[in-house]
Amino acid sequence: MMWKKRAKQAVLIAIGTLVVAIAALAWLWSDRPNLDDIAWPAPTIASAAIADSVTATWLGVTTLLFDDGETQILVDGFFSRPSLADVVLDRPVENDAATINYVLNEFRMRRLAAIIPVHSHFDHAMDVGAIANRTSASVLGSASTTEIARGAGVPEDQTITVAENQPYKFGRFTVTLLHSRHAPIGWRGSVPLAGTIDAPLTPPQPVSAWREGGSYTVVIEHPQGTTIVQASAGLAGAALSKVPADVVMLGVFGLETLGKSYAEQYWQGFVTATGADSVYPIHFDDYTRPFGDVIPGPKFLGDLTTTASWLDGFRKRWDNDAQLFMPEFGRPIALYAQPVPET
Ligand SMILES: [Zn+2]
Repeated sequence: MMWKKRAKQAVLIAIGTLVVAIAALAWLWSDRPNLDDIAWPAPTIASAAIADSVTATWLGVTTLLFDDGETQILVDGFFSRPSLADVVLDRPVENDAATINYVLNEFRMRRLAAIIPVHSHFDHAMDVGAIANRTSASVLGSASTTEIARGAGVPEDQTITVAENQPYKFGRFTVTLLHSRHAPIGWRGSVPLAGTIDAPLTPPQPVSAWREGGSYTVVIEHPQGTTIVQASAGLAGAALSKVPADVVMLGVFGLETLGKSYAEQYWQGFVTATGADSVYPIHFDDYTRPFGDVIPGPKFLGDLTTTASWLDGFRKRWDNDAQLFMPEFGRPIALYAQPVPET
């Protein structure tokens, strides 16, 4: 019968289209830049200098552990690493207790005074409550961040909902959160998973439950120097032009997809305007990989090789004295000890 034949054909075409689409997506996902093609050197410093200097240890994505030997501060807290399937299917995920315990022990976070997420998306703030519960650190962030801590059962006196532009002291560190913008990398220039978290957030939850809740530029001052952490590639606010800095941790996720002139404005706002002499790109690794795996994200989400060539060009044009460095996972960077590039 004719209609049966037609139906069979339609099903075959649908299956064929689906197979091609899945194959195309799999190819897009696996098409990655090679870290070896990027010429940024790792900072090399004598270990004696590390002992005396404020250090920052990059723990993947934009999680950074600052330490001056007395006080530790964690910017972001993301160790659980939901898988690609968890993210794509938006299925409920839990904090990964075993990984969190391992990281706190391995990186000796025994003097942690504060946990400061740059915004409340899962790839920045998912574990802040779980970390606070295992330490005595305060969680400092937006009202949405406070709801993440509450949902994890962090005591109220261990949470601080920040006032923008107000300095907070932790040991010899002074931390100020400036109003910032998230990179407009969502559909038609929107911010993905925008909005706020308005009630205590208790996992398991789908990753989409962690809403942005406002973004911050984090300024970390210390008698030795000043570091700015800009985790998301949103353009600088006006307040930043009055903040001189030595080091900038510059989030580059999605930057290439926003175009070269956007990237140039981004560079000028955070590097040229602050006069920083060391720049460490961050947020270039695939955040669906397990903790400790540093693999650049797929090219279609922002090609790191292109980003790197743009940043090199901006540096030569605007900030010839500045150096771009590739952070090494888990290895302390002596922030103010004049790192020398490997030759
Ligand atoms: Zn985000």
